[in-house]
Amino acid sequence: MSEPHPCLGCGACCAAFRVDFSLHELDEMGGTVPAGLAVEVTGSTWRMRGTDHLPTRCAALTGKVGEKAACGIYEWRPNPCRELEAGSDACTRARARHNLRPLQGF
Ligand code: SF4
Ligand code: SF4
Repeated sequence: MSEPHPCLGCGACCAAFRVDFSLHELDEMGGTVPAGLAVEVTGSTWRMRGTDHLPTRCAALTGKVGEKAACGIYEWRPNPCRELEAGSDACTRARARHNLRPLQGF
């Protein structure tokens, strides 16, 4: 039996960093990200709502970080979320902010 993926339930990176992405990723521009969950930063750059708040938490995140968190728009999330790799330095920093240990074996 394989181990569940460590991101399942974690969500620390969704509650640690600003998440900026291109205007063209918005659903209303032909992309996938629901515009209602994002705010405009500049004409060409948008940000997931809540990711520049303190405490930081993406508006699309559901559940409790480190226990039962999930992305409510997983299939439609923007590129920065797709690119952040489990076990990367950013992952480790995000987890540390939530008192979670670094992933092992990634
Ligand atoms: S990439 Fe790291 S911080 Fe983000 S959900 Fe996965 S394990 Fe958690
Ligand atoms: S869109 Fe989803 S994966 Fe990206 S930061 Fe928000 S909750 Fe996390």
